[in-house]
Order: sequence, then C-alpha cells, then structure tokens
Amino acid sequence: MEADVGIVGGGVVGLSLARELGERGISATVYEARQQIGEGADRASGILSKSGLEKLGLDYGKSVVNELYGAHFHAGGRTFTVRAGETKAYVLDRISLAQSCARRAIEEGAEIRLGKKLDAAGIRALSAEHRVVVGADGAVSNVASTFGFPQAARMVLTYKAVYEGVDVADSGMVGLYFDKAITRGFFGWTAPYSGSKLEVAVGIEDRAKANSKRAFDAFIERAAGGEIGGGAARKEDAGLIPLAARARTVKGSVLLVGDAAGQVKATTGGGIIFGVGCAKVAAGAIAEHLAKGRGLGRYEVAWRRKYGTDLALHRLLHGYYSSVGQTGLSMAFAFMKSLGAERLLGSFGDMDSPSRTLKGVVFRRA
Ligand SMILES: Cc1cc2nc3c(=O)[nH]c(=O)nc-3n(C[C@H](O)[C@H](O)[C@H](O)COP(=O)(O)OP(=O)(O)OC[C@H]3O[C@@H](n4cnc5c(N)ncnc54)[C@H](O)[C@@H]3O)c2cc1C
Repeated sequence: MEADVGIVGGGVVGLSLARELGERGISATVYEARQQIGEGADRASGILSKSGLEKLGLDYGKSVVNELYGAHFHAGGRTFTVRAGETKAYVLDRISLAQSCARRAIEEGAEIRLGKKLDAAGIRALSAEHRVVVGADGAVSNVASTFGFPQAARMVLTYKAVYEGVDVADSGMVGLYFDKAITRGFFGWTAPYSGSKLEVAVGIEDRAKANSKRAFDAFIERAAGGEIGGGAARKEDAGLIPLAARARTVKGSVLLVGDAAGQVKATTGGGIIFGVGCAKVAAGAIAEHLAKGRGLGRYEVAWRRKYGTDLALHRLLHGYYSSVGQTGLSMAFAFMKSLGAERLLGSFGDMDSPSRTLKGVVFRRA
C-alpha cells in the first residue's frame, strides 16, 4: 500500500516535512530526482541564523562549518558594520545538512525513492497513489506547473564560487556588496568558511536580463577581489532563488512548500528557515485533513498568518535597496550610523524577523 503523502523533492524542506509527518504517525514517500541525497545542494550557501535554527528542530550540529557574528555592508565606497558580541549565524555544509534531514525522516518511517525525476505524467499519477501530494521540488517546481499553480513572479540568478588559500581578515564577518551596475536588483556577498576558505557569490534579478557569470566576474574585479587575494576558486555553480511567494500554494489535495512555494526572504534569498517552518505548518494541516477531513486550505491561511508579515517586510526592504542605487544606500548608511544603528542592530538585529528587530530597537532598555 502506498503512503498517505507523496512528497516530490528530497531537499531540506521536503525531508523535514517527511520527518514532521512521521512524528505525527503519517506515512510519507519522498521522490528525489538525484541519485543521492544532498547531491548538488552545495550550489546554494548555508548561512542560517542561530535563533532560527534553534526553533526548527533540525539536526544541524554536525553540519556547522563556521560561526558568524556580524556583517560589513558596502555601498558607494561607504561601509556600515553590524557586529554582535556573540555568534548570530552559522555557515552550514549543505550536503551534510540534507543528509542529516534524510536520516531523521527515515528514523520517523519515511521512505525515500532516489533517482526519480518525475515528469508531469509521473506527478499526475501520484494523485491516484497518495491522499496528499506535496511539491517540495524547488524554485522551478514541476508540481506547480503540472497542477497549474500561479507562476513565481520574480527570480534571482546566482553565481557562486568557493576560494581556497585566502587570507581571510575576520572569519566571523560576512561581506555584503551593493553595486547597482553589477548586482542588479540583488547583491554580492563573501562568507568565510574558515581563516583560509571563502565563499564569494553574486545575485542578479532575472528581469535585469543579464548573465550571472559575467556579473560574478565583474564583482570579483571591482569589489570582492581584494578579499580573495591570491586564493584559487575550487568550485563554481549557478543557482536560482525565488523572490516572492506564489499567489496560491494549495489546490485540492496538492500543496507547495519551500522554494516551490516561494517561501524565501527577498532581502537575502535565505529559504531554509521559512521553508522548514512552513513544512511544520503543512504537517499540521495534512494531519487534520487526513484525520478529520478538514480542507488543506488551512495550510495556506496558517503559513501566511505566521510568516506573511515578515516575508512582506523582507520584500519591502528588498524593494528599497534594489531601487535606491549606490548613492542613496551610502547616504542611508551614513544616516543610520548617526542614529547609532550599527550598535543597535548588533544587539537587537534578527536576520529572519524584521518585525522582531523593530520591536527590539523600539522597546530597548535605555
Ligand atoms: C546561491 C544560493 C545561496 C543561498 N543561500 C542560502 C542561505 O545562505 N541560507 C538559506 O537559508 N537559504 C539559502 N538559499 C536558498 C536555499 O538554498 C533554498 O531556500 C532551499 O534549498 C529550499 O529548499 P527546498 O527543499 O524547498 O528546495 P531544494 O533545495 O531546491 O530541493 C528541491 C529538491 O527537489 C528535487 N527535485 C526537483 N524537481 C524534481 C522532480 N521533478 N522530481 C523529483 N525530485 C525533484 C531536487 O533534486 C532537489 O533535491 C540559497 C540559494 C542559492 C541558489
């Protein structure tokens, strides 16, 4: 007999959903296109807030590569620095993280079928085999297109490389570079893995109709080259990040979660914290659907209620920095510095929740 739930996509989000379902006594089969869990997962970065990770129940301890406590923001020749007195985020090994999610899902009874890249016919067939079908198949979701979900409105094209033999100035600090001419609608970043290993990447909005590799080369030449020094690129990858949630994420007995749903912070492209959080919400809604016949529409309402405000604030901030240009950003940095924002954000900044950051700053003790 087939499992109650068929999940297309064995990334961190699909596997977390399988674990959550197993914990509720619900059987799930995960269909993964790749031959091995985690294959290709390192085309993305693994920078996740400590506070977000602690809430998710992910088994991430063995995947920690580095600890981060702050960031330098660069625009128009000006730098704005936010530095906390403690670890605020981790750099995680994405392959190892996916593998530990798979282990946890299997422990909870999930079955994982590898090497199963499902086409539209294969995905439609799942509806007859499982009571619920989930698309956790990433930004270019076949499940979404097969069942006619609304398009993901905007995407960011990325290009990333990992350099070895670098003399990293401060292995606890990330660099964020805003230069409208290069990082059109997004930004470039440097993230240390250690004192000698540095990730360098760039994102550009797809509507800029530019080439992410060319943007990357320009970024190295004009901005990040100084950080790399004599280091050599070991691995290079292109990737894709959805910038906004789809207008609809449930249709009958089919739902979307993670990048397939577009549950991603538009400011940074970070999708694991929100995607895994939404998987938890989805598991609750699926459990009620299977036990009491309640509609899966509850998932749509519940995840938007829980994460909608913060995702909207991320979109608002992204809209600001992507439209204002370098001079505007540089002036904003100067203004924020004069208000003491570097210190305040170091104390109250929350990478995931702008609403919590605002509350922290407004209600801080003098
Ligand atoms: C360059 C870059 C940097 C990033 N940095 C961060 C970061 O620092 N922090 C963060 O939180 N997020 C980051 N993200 C975003 C993060 O990678 C995604 O939000 C996250 O991977 C989403 O997980 P997912 O499981 O929804 O989708 P994916 O990780 O995309 O997993 C989808 C899975 O579905 C499988 N699949 C696809 N189609 C099919 C099919 N038809 N049949 C079967 N299987 C299929 C794929 O093989 C894949 O394993 C970054 C992304 C990029 C591109």
